[in-house]
Amino acid sequence: MNTPYSHLIYHQVRPINKPTSDIDNKQYDIVIIGAGIQGAGVAQAAAICGYKTLVIEKHPLSGMGTSCKSSKLIHGGLRYLESGQFQLVKECLQERNRLLKNAPDLVKLIPFYIPVYGNSFRPSWKIWLGLCIYTLFSFKPFEIVKKSQWPSLDPIKKKDLRCVFKYYDAQTDDQALTRSVVRSAQSFGAEFIYNADFSRSEFGQGSHTINYAKDKINHTINSKYLINCSGPWVMDTQNKIYPKQNTPPIELISGSHIIVNIKTTQGAYYLEAEDKRAVFVIPWKEKHTLIGTTETPYTGTSDNVAATKKDIDYLINTYNKHFNMKISERNITDTFCGLRVLPQDTNSVFHKSRDSLIVESKLCPGLITAIGGKLTTYRASAELIVSKINIEKKYSKANTRKTKLSIG
Ligand SMILES: Cc1cc2nc3c(=O)[nH]c(=O)nc-3n(C[C@H](O)[C@H](O)[C@H](O)COP(=O)(O)OP(=O)(O)OC[C@H]3O[C@@H](n4cnc5c(N)ncnc54)[C@H](O)[C@@H]3O)c2cc1C
Repeated sequence: MNTPYSHLIYHQVRPINKPTSDIDNKQYDIVIIGAGIQGAGVAQAAAICGYKTLVIEKHPLSGMGTSCKSSKLIHGGLRYLESGQFQLVKECLQERNRLLKNAPDLVKLIPFYIPVYGNSFRPSWKIWLGLCIYTLFSFKPFEIVKKSQWPSLDPIKKKDLRCVFKYYDAQTDDQALTRSVVRSAQSFGAEFIYNADFSRSEFGQGSHTINYAKDKINHTINSKYLINCSGPWVMDTQNKIYPKQNTPPIELISGSHIIVNIKTTQGAYYLEAEDKRAVFVIPWKEKHTLIGTTETPYTGTSDNVAATKKDIDYLINTYNKHFNMKISERNITDTFCGLRVLPQDTNSVFHKSRDSLIVESKLCPGLITAIGGKLTTYRASAELIVSKINIEKKYSKANTRKTKLSIG
């Protein structure tokens, strides 16, 4: 495929270490780096087609990178309508509907409430308009909560409250979802190797020679296709792949969440923070509430990201601005922080595109790089990636659109 990024620069070729194990030099159709939701999704879609597929993951289990640090929503992203990302919202809602059918134990619709105050940045008419468009894409109508029903909501502040909207979106456990996709991929024959750190690959004679280290031993395998699904480590991985290619510039945006020991019973709340950003307050497990997220440009290494004091204060303040019951750091039982991978552009963080990029390479044939994307759309991105695999399928009728996923 011709992408704006397929003009590639050849840099250097280094010798590859000799294989050191008897499992080495196995030949695969597809090797995927990273067992987050994206890598798991590609493995599932590839294995369903009958391709010999291997996933290399540096952590001891799947879903230990960004895919356990999201807001855990399978959603269209109401707020993306504001930045004109209609196609993305439509695709997300299509995928939400598929996941509700295919993974009913893992993905569940919950009500979301949007309180609008006299001094809210977004007026009621704007939210009403956004929800009309959302309904058009999702076929799930929204409503305006009657004033007489406000007392039955969780204790949001009523002073200057003008209107409360109620709509539906879906919630999941991101890590459990990732692991269910891994199990599905395995059931179709995909192999996963954990504690295995991809270290280098080089393309030559129609195949990628791939090195990874496991238990301090260097292994070498071969594959026709190499798929880089390493999330926020995407550029670290890209720098180990030869011949080198020009990849579109990206930005990392950190997002923090806090979990507090307060129960939220009626559904999730979509709040407006001081800086006009959206912050979610979401019921979590039996007795807790998840509050997030922040969005801060990040330039450190992808391994060391953590919620900062500033992030925590911002989330606590946003909650306290909207709820009668005040929380403090004492209520926090956990914090986590993940990195969004976004294409670099001049827009503010809030208005940056949340679409994923699938980049192919001419200098390094068979290399496909997944940049960005959402938990919600993992299946659609995986389907697109696998549609680019030019190897004859063994099972041409199978696809992931109707494949069931279970908690396991
Ligand atoms: C704060 C935040 C909130 C979000 N909320 C939502 C949400 O509510 N809904 C939604 O749809 N999306 C959400 N997203 C987006 C979503 O979480 C991500 O798009 C998704 O989890 C990314 O998955 P991934 O597989 O690409 O990356 P990851 O999950 O990070 O997986 C990459 C994997 O690659 C592995 N890896 C890296 N380097 C190597 C190597 N050298 N060798 C072997 N393995 C390697 C890593 O260990 C990791 O497991 C959110 C993102 C953030 C940051």
